[in-house]
Amino acid sequence: MIASPRRRTIGILDLVTKSARNSLYGRLMNANLASIMPQVLGVWCEEAGHRVRYVCYTGGEDPLAELPDDLDILFIGAFTQAAQLAYAISNLYRQRGTVTVLGGPHARCYPEDARQYFDYVLGFTDRAVVQEVLAECAPHRPEGRMVAAARQPAELPPLEARWKFVEAALRKAPTIKFVPMIGSLGCPYTCSFCIDSTVDYQPLGFEQVSADLAFLLTKVKHPIVGWHDPNFGVRFDDYMEAVERAVPPGRIRHIAESSLSLLSEPHLVRLRKNGFQAILPGIESWFDLGNKSKTRRTGLDKVQQVAEHVNLILRYVPYIQTNFVLGLDTDEGDEPFELTKRFLDLAPGAFPAYSLLSAFGRAAPLNLEYQRANRVVPFPFTFLNNNHAMNVRPKNYTWPAFYDRLVDLSRYSFSWRAIRRRLGATEGMIPKWMNVVRAMSSEGWGRISYHRTIRRLLDEDAGVRGFMQGETDRLPEFYSRRIEHDLGPLYRHLPAGAMMHDPNAYLKSTAESTVPIARPAPGRRAARPADHPREDATAILGPT
Ligand code: SF4
Repeated sequence: MIASPRRRTIGILDLVTKSARNSLYGRLMNANLASIMPQVLGVWCEEAGHRVRYVCYTGGEDPLAELPDDLDILFIGAFTQAAQLAYAISNLYRQRGTVTVLGGPHARCYPEDARQYFDYVLGFTDRAVVQEVLAECAPHRPEGRMVAAARQPAELPPLEARWKFVEAALRKAPTIKFVPMIGSLGCPYTCSFCIDSTVDYQPLGFEQVSADLAFLLTKVKHPIVGWHDPNFGVRFDDYMEAVERAVPPGRIRHIAESSLSLLSEPHLVRLRKNGFQAILPGIESWFDLGNKSKTRRTGLDKVQQVAEHVNLILRYVPYIQTNFVLGLDTDEGDEPFELTKRFLDLAPGAFPAYSLLSAFGRAAPLNLEYQRANRVVPFPFTFLNNNHAMNVRPKNYTWPAFYDRLVDLSRYSFSWRAIRRRLGATEGMIPKWMNVVRAMSSEGWGRISYHRTIRRLLDEDAGVRGFMQGETDRLPEFYSRRIEHDLGPLYRHLPAGAMMHDPNAYLKSTAESTVPIARPAPGRRAARPADHPREDATAILGPT
């Protein structure tokens, strides 16, 4: 073990959101989106003898006010939408003499860009990687040093060890509190757009899952656990036995993401018995990715089969969110959108979450194809959250045609009629009102208003039209002004050049293989893996 020569003052900042511009839903839920890896990092650093200050930034506070000024090293964990905020904070702390490190989804997806603004950029992260960085703890400029483990390690610190960090994050959740847990990494499926499609499925020790749940019950009488597994329940029976070993029926409520193929009726019976309250399957498309819905059907056939399955799930689990990816190359004309409306008619209890097709740098091999075809639009990272921008030019639609259908579908999905039908089709106070709040907040009406603005700008603003059609890479004022607004007082710390990035860096790196990645010497004591980097802000509510 590389012992760090001296005790360091370490800051750990988990950027759950990109700005202080919080919707009602964000104010209620952001603290429940805290990632597990920054908390794991806190455990490793304290076990190595360092002083740790952990902050989960939820948008309602000033991140700088909660972090000491005199840090030796600052670790920032961020999804891509919070990259500009991370770059500004790193720049400010580097001017104060602090060494800065970026980890998490953005670091894994855009290392070439991030290393211009951080001293270290981490890929797969384990204890050895962290100790390597802490031991050296030196500025690396103008380009940061890339450090990564060969793969995700096999186990995690116990919940008991990271409990103080869990509590610190949940203190910021005003009403509902989700305790973040994870029992497996990677996924056996290979959805072309997903960052986990290239990570081998790996359970993290079912004894540990039982021990963590038993510990949790000593802390909270009736907790809600949010499972961060990319695809919960792959080893279903082992998982349920681990839960049943530690938890008396009805003592813990669970939320998880599982593909439809894992949600058979016998499994649903057992999920209900063990208190599963919400499930978030990925349907994604009516013309693609059928394997994870266990169907070869497409089009209306798939709609009818999946709607039946979703209604079955709602007979056992009170809350369901169904994830869709809009704009895939298999989509053409009105049909994909009309079929989704048909699905909502047949399964009114489902809350639809629409992700716009997005290429997050190195997240998925498919992104190389989009880059080779020069279809990636260089939207600044702030807008890459699957909703505020679609950075892949659609194959079968013009932008106006796509946004017309997107606005139409969103209106249909969050109309008063849909809200009433969803209210009537779900049981239980919390599921009912969660759906109403989400529909009336940033995820429903907020999105409709935003998509309508983009649609209007496509007609009225030649700069926006030209930028989205690839005729110019000059960022339209509409977007630069939003970044300035989102960053607020931190905007002046955004380094020069950090507003834009090279959308084809991944492709160029494969050709040139320019990025030297340092791997700590093998054979060190087994360390813990990086958090599950779902590249969308709603950590617990991403695609599965
Ligand atoms: S989208 Fe879900 S099912 Fe598909 S690879 Fe990713 S985690 Fe697995």
